Amino acid sequence: MKVHNFSAGPSILPEEVTRQAADAVKELDGSGLSLLEISHRSKAFIDIMDEACSLALELTGLQNKGYKSIFLQGGASLQFLMTAYNLLEKKAGYVNTGTWSNKAIKEAKLFGEVLEIASSKEANFNFIPKGYSIPEDLDYLHLTTNNTIFGTQLKDIPETNIPLAADMSSDIFSRVFDYTKFDLFYAGAQKNMGPAGATLVIIKENLFNKVTRTIPSMLNYQIHADAGSMFNTPPVFAVFTSMLNMRWVKAQGGIEKLGEKNMFKSNLLYSEIDRNSKFIGFAAIEDRSEMNATFNLVDPADGEAFDTLCNSAGISGLKGHRSVGGYRASMYNALPVKSLQVLVDCMQTLEEKN
Ligand SMILES: *Cc1c(COP(=O)(O)O)cnc(C)c1O
Repeated sequence: MKVHNFSAGPSILPEEVTRQAADAVKELDGSGLSLLEISHRSKAFIDIMDEACSLALELTGLQNKGYKSIFLQGGASLQFLMTAYNLLEKKAGYVNTGTWSNKAIKEAKLFGEVLEIASSKEANFNFIPKGYSIPEDLDYLHLTTNNTIFGTQLKDIPETNIPLAADMSSDIFSRVFDYTKFDLFYAGAQKNMGPAGATLVIIKENLFNKVTRTIPSMLNYQIHADAGSMFNTPPVFAVFTSMLNMRWVKAQGGIEKLGEKNMFKSNLLYSEIDRNSKFIGFAAIEDRSEMNATFNLVDPADGEAFDTLCNSAGISGLKGHRSVGGYRASMYNALPVKSLQVLVDCMQTLEEKN
């Protein structure tokens, strides 16, 4: 049976990407060697890394604009501290929109003063704070563009002259977005870019050497950038497969086309959540995420019937995060429209039969 994969991450990849990655594990392009056993210093892999780095800039419209893209390990979670290590001299501002922002704030506090300049905590993070004032003396302002757990997404980038840093782990490459407004952003691969194990960081070159402290080499953006993401052995498989997926994004028409498709997909589901008397959405309507939809049953007693319907339709990974409960449908780039239609059918069947 076809499985409809709504997992929040690691998550669905396009079938052809998974197939090409599997082929390369067996043998990379007639080289006689598996992708897993080639040297990262070989021409074959240097080409792969170069293509991955340049595709990341191309897809975000940042080529020749003074940015560097680098691939690192340690997940987005390492970026919570690396951002502060490299940029926080005195004071930084953070908008707290949920679990991941909280973790970023906690790490940044190790390096300097952290102002939580807005938060949606009192509403269990079901909305994105807006209209807050941004102090002029911050080293940077940190945002989370998509809150994977709570299902909210930043639509309007705040206007400010101070550098903007963002965690884009769960919505990079998913919509048309003015990436030039950001000075630094990062994304763990396993949500919308590739398999777990690689993290993409895109940083403006003028942010190198911003702080007076000594930064250990492995945590220093400039050292990784200067070494072409090869300061140490990179995660070869994760970078290769992310590169394949970025090629796929480009072949689909780039983020412009995928953005339209993602809007169509999320509208399908949100209009059913709003129409169906059995369900209620979690996130504030204007802040709803096109990547992760969070919703609940009006009557928890319907849970068993709904789960049975979903299981028999081949729906996988729909359980909500424990801090929200209910359901979460992750609708990343690779999720076909068909999977959303199957989910909507299950919701309609529940309403008709119960
Ligand atoms: C998943 C996720 C993280 C954590 O990523 P790791 O790669 O596991 O460290 C951070 N931020 C956001 C927005 C996420 O969705």
